[in-house]
Parts: sequence; structure tokens; C-alpha cells
Amino acid sequence: MKKVSLAVASLVILLAVLLVAKTLAYRSKQLPAEAAPSVPIDTAAAARLAGALAFRTISFQGTAGVDTTQFHGLQTYLERAFPAVHARLARERVAGFNLLYRWPGGDTTLQPVLLLAHQDVVPVEPGTEDRWTEPPFGGRISAGYVWGRGALDDKGNLVAILEAVEALLGQGFQPRRTVYLAFGADEEVGGAGARQIAALLGSRNVRPEFLVDEGGAVAEGVVPGARTPLALVGIAEKGYVSVELTVHVPGGHSSMPPPETAVGILSAAIDRLQGHQMPAAIRGPTAQMLDYLGPELPFSGRLALANRWLFGGLIAGRLGRTPLGNAMLRTSTAPTIFQGGVKDNVLPSTARAVVNFRILPGDSSATVLRHVRRAIADPRVEVRAQEAALSEPSPVSDVKSPSFQLLQRTIREVAPDAVVVPWLVVGGTDARHYAALTRDSYRFSAARVGLRDLERIHGTNERVAVANYGDMIRFYLLLIRNSAG
Ligand SMILES: [Zn+2]
Repeated sequence: MKKVSLAVASLVILLAVLLVAKTLAYRSKQLPAEAAPSVPIDTAAAARLAGALAFRTISFQGTAGVDTTQFHGLQTYLERAFPAVHARLARERVAGFNLLYRWPGGDTTLQPVLLLAHQDVVPVEPGTEDRWTEPPFGGRISAGYVWGRGALDDKGNLVAILEAVEALLGQGFQPRRTVYLAFGADEEVGGAGARQIAALLGSRNVRPEFLVDEGGAVAEGVVPGARTPLALVGIAEKGYVSVELTVHVPGGHSSMPPPETAVGILSAAIDRLQGHQMPAAIRGPTAQMLDYLGPELPFSGRLALANRWLFGGLIAGRLGRTPLGNAMLRTSTAPTIFQGGVKDNVLPSTARAVVNFRILPGDSSATVLRHVRRAIADPRVEVRAQEAALSEPSPVSDVKSPSFQLLQRTIREVAPDAVVVPWLVVGGTDARHYAALTRDSYRFSAARVGLRDLERIHGTNERVAVANYGDMIRFYLLLIRNSAG
């Protein structure tokens, strides 16, 4: 008996030693803080952003519904607001309203830098206009914020990029690398414009050293357990597939129903899909996020993240409690459309549903379809992927690349209080269309967002703090200076 307890005790001690050793060996991946260069921001910058927010550049699937005067208006406005940019950079319109700017570098042997943003915005949900503190297309500044649809997504970034280039031109800065700016006009409806710009650049053999797009931010209180702000740099984005489920059965009179109607069959299928989610796991970009985050946590958190071989399940469980955390761990399942029936006393002959999946890197649309068929396991339910909007997960960009290091250094200069962590963008961005041109696609903006701000994006009261907008401009200015100076 004594021997057994002695063996158990030594095992426990061994385990404790192992856990602590792993924790102590868990080194910070942050770059040392450097003295941030001072970059004064023009006090009229916020007003220029506000002016751009007044244009209702709403994108729609297809050209029907697009108000071309708004896009013309925005582009004419930008010409006036940024005269040096428009005098010194070559600007092209690509397939409609998509814009491509080229600022030629002095050294043609260097690969160019590509900065992305988009001109279009999502509409304001009808009936919610009154809930806005300032009108969504009013172009107002009040209480220290610039208000309006697009302040964060994504005119804030677009106008900040132009502001940075205008300032650099004013300082007589001449880039060594060529700098491209590409501003799509339909990111919110799939980014066909970005695909066209990417094809054009590809045909000209332009191979950017790296690109920076929206999709990451300086997040405060978004990731559970993190006590400092996190500069989330998207190194990949999830794929997208909507799966259509259809049931065809003989119709008839509802007074003599079969055991299951089309609606019943389809409901059961949806229920099985919700009950059998795709597997959750800490892998890929989310594993990399934890590797960067872990060493910055207090001891208990560090111990847990350093020993994922033991605590992985616990960590995944905690992370998966929020919808965002869950989306980072697995291919997500979201039934979004359900249709069937025309009259209360008629048995429907068809019922149709659409389930939207956001595909984790490592999975694919094919694995999703296989999963759907297996989970539903009912031959009466036809399963079909909607091809039009389908996209596979993006490649995962390298955090060991010189470009990531440069980005990390620039972020430290702009947000010295933040910990830089790679991350998985759970939505979609234009960046994915450029995957064939560069291996290093990063999704980051110096905008500071809390959980409440995430609701404002595509929601009500979208806004950016005037002071924070200065950081967004500073970020692009320093990024160009650090990469092309
Ligand atoms: Zn966007």
C-alpha cells in the first residue's frame, strides 16, 4: 500500500515538474517595445473621413440596385480631398467602380506592397434608422466619434490609407518599393471587383511582397482571459459554402396527412445537422493564436496554454462558449433559410432550406458536403452546394515571414499596449481573391474594437473614435515607411 501511494506521489510530482517546465519554457513571441516615432495627424483628417461616410455606396448582388451616382460622388470627393495622391499616383478604374492606384517605387527589383480596402458598405436595416445616435449617412462628428455606416467597415481604413499617402507625399517621401492601393466596390457581396483587380495585377506579373486588408483589429475584451488589448492579425480566413436542402413529396389535403410532411422531413434534417456539428479542435491559425497569447497570460493561463496536450479539451471548451470562439474552433453550421408550404390546409409538395457553413482551414466544401449527407442520413433530402458564392478556406500566411515581423514591429509602434497575435478571420474579406499573387496576406487595422463595436459593424451606430482614427492613419503611414522607406 505504502509502495503504491509512493508511486502515485512521485507521478504527481513528475507531472507537476513537467507542467511547470513547459510553462517556463513558453517564451514570449512579442518584439521588444521600441520608441514610437511621432507622427502628427492633420486635425482635419476626421472631417475628411466624415465626408466620405456621407455617400451611400451600398453594394448589391449584381448591378441592379447600385446607385452609381453615390460611387461617382465618393470618387470625385476623394480626388478633391486628396489632391497630392491623385496628382502623383496613377489611378485606374477596373470593371466598374473598383479602384487601383499605383505609386511607383525607385527600386524596380523590389516586390511591391499592396494595401486593400473597400468602398462599398452594407445597407442600414429598415426600421433601425431611428436607433442611430447620428444618422448613418450624415457624415457627422460628435462626442469624440466619427459616426456612420462604413466608419469601421471599411471606409475608415480606405480613407486612412489615402490620408497616410497624402501625408507622406507632403513630406517628400519617395517609396523604394512600388505601393499599390486596391479599393473594391463590392466586397460586401462577394468581391467580384477584387477578383478582377487581382486578375489584372496577375496579368501584369505583379507579385506583392505582402498585402494588408481589413479583418483584424486591436481588440479589447473580445478574447476571454486576455487582459491586454490584442492586435489580431488575420493570417487566414474561413471558406464559405451554402448548402441547399430540398424535399419533394406528393402533396395533398392536410386532413389525411402521412406520418411526415415535407416540412417535417426537412425540420428533422436541420435538427440532425444542428445536433451533429463539425468537430471542434485547436489547430491551424487558432493554435498559433494561443501560442502567441499564452506567454502573455498570468501564470495559471500560461500553464494551461503551454500544456495543451493535457488541457486542450478544457481550453477548447472555454473558448467555444462564445459564438466567436466556437467559430474559431470548427466549421460552423448556420441554417439561414427555411421555406415550405403555401396554405394552412395544403400538404406542401416541396420544402427547401439553406444552411450556411464557414469552413475552417483544413476542411473543404467537399468535407462539408460529406458531413451533411452523413449527418442527415435521409435519401428523401436532396443535398446540393450553391456554387455561386462558394469559396474554399484561404491559405494560411506564414508568421515567420519577414513581412509578418515588419507588421508586428509597426503594430508595436502604433499600439504599444497591445499583444500581437495571429488569428483566423471568421468572415470573408477581399484578400482571399489575391491568394494567387502573394503568400503573405495579412488582415489588420489599427481600429480599436470591443465586443460592443463588433455589433456596430453591419449593425447600428457604427463609429470610430477620432483619436483612434489617428492611430489607423499612423499605422498605414508607418507601414509604408517601414516597408518601402
Ligand atoms: Zn468589410
